[in-house]
This record gives sequence, structure tokens and C-alpha cells, in this order.
Amino acid sequence: MTALSAILFSALAMTLIVGVRYLLVSGAFAWGTARRHPGLYRGLGPQMRREIGWSLASAAIYGVPAGILAWGWRAHGWTRVTADPHALPLWWWPVSVLLCLAAHDTWFYWTHRWMHRPKAFRAMHAVHHASRPPTAWAAMSFHPWEAVTGAVVIPVLVLIVPMHWTALAAVLTIMTVMGVTNHMGWEIFPRALVEGPAGGWLITASHHQHHHTNYRCNYGLYFRVWDRLCGTDKGLGRFPARPD
Ligand SMILES: [Zn+2]
Ligand SMILES: [Zn+2]
Repeated sequence: MTALSAILFSALAMTLIVGVRYLLVSGAFAWGTARRHPGLYRGLGPQMRREIGWSLASAAIYGVPAGILAWGWRAHGWTRVTADPHALPLWWWPVSVLLCLAAHDTWFYWTHRWMHRPKAFRAMHAVHHASRPPTAWAAMSFHPWEAVTGAVVIPVLVLIVPMHWTALAAVLTIMTVMGVTNHMGWEIFPRALVEGPAGGWLITASHHQHHHTNYRCNYGLYFRVWDRLCGTDKGLGRFPARPD
């Protein structure tokens, strides 16, 4: 196999993995929503089909750089991800996970705030806010230009941050699950956590819902740190009245 066909194969494989992961995780939470809050997504069929279409296009945009990097990792040892359990100290495992989440959160907060400027909003971010209210299928519902801003994050981090592959898997799992649950239209975490001291710093559906109704606040991804520092944190939102 030539290098080019190996890269193409890797990009295609990663696109499939990201796409199938999205369909399985969003599908599971949409199914859970239908059981827990029947009728919550009533009348949103056409919107959910659009969310799935944009999300699958995003899967290709995430898959291509990820595929190139996966090929480079295998063929040339690119990336600082290791499979050797003794290559890094144990304490580095949680630190590397937190570091990746904090870096992703910082990148997201500032690009997201920029995308709320009128011109950038119309060109890149209106697609995401066309979900009113968002559903579990909206996790990757982004215009291709917005998807590009998200697609660069993990590839850059794996080139810089030394980590065990299980730490990377943890970051990807948190990214996927929070992306889905934050748009689901109801709070999955216990009230004691969301309204307690930890909830003051962590972003869950109650926080991101407020961004989707108010637009001009709550720009963060995982943590409320930047929103609080910059005065854009307007607290937790309310969910639309449920039919059940
Ligand atoms: Zn959103
Ligand atoms: Zn936004």
C-alpha cells in the first residue's frame, strides 16, 4: 500500500469511527430521552434530521485530520501518545486528562465567543443555533467551518501532551458524552451536583441550555472558569415545559 492510499484509508476509517460513535451515543441518549421524557422531541423530526446531516458532515471533518495523525502515529511515531504503561508516571494520567480538557475548554470559549460576532455568527455558527431547542442529535451539528475549528483540537493536543492512550480515550469519552448530554434538553446529573459547589465550576445541560436560549452568555464547554472570569456566566437555565 502506498503512503497516500494508507492515509486515505486511515482518514476513511476515522470518519467511520467518529460517525458511528456519534450515531450510537446520540441514539442511545435520544432513546433514553424518549423513555424518560416521552414527547420532549415531539414535532422536532425535521430539525433532528438536519442535526444528523450536519453532524455526519462534521464526522468527516473530524475524521480526516484524525486519520492522518493515526497513520503518522503508526508509520512514523508522530504524536506523544504511548501504549507503554511505564512510560509516564501514574500521577500524570489525571493531570494529562485535565490538561487536555482545560486546553479544549479555553480554545472553545474564545472561538465560540468570536463566532457570536454578527458576521462570524451568520457564516459559521447559525447552523448550531438553528436547533431550537437542541436535542441529543445536535452534539456535532455544526457548519463545516465551525467543525474545522473543533477538528484541530485533539490532533494538536496529541502532538504536544504526552499521555497514555487510555487517558486520550477518557478525554474523547468525556468530550462525546458531554457534547450529547449538554444538548439533550434535560439534566442527567443529580441536582446536588449541578446546584452544589462542583456545579459552580462544571458545565452540564442546565448551563449550556441557557446559552441556547440567551445566546449572549455561557460560552464555555466543560468548565465555567472563563465565563466567570470574563463576566459572561449568567447561571443555570430552565428547560422548556415538558409535555409529560
Ligand atoms: Zn450548543
Ligand atoms: Zn453559540
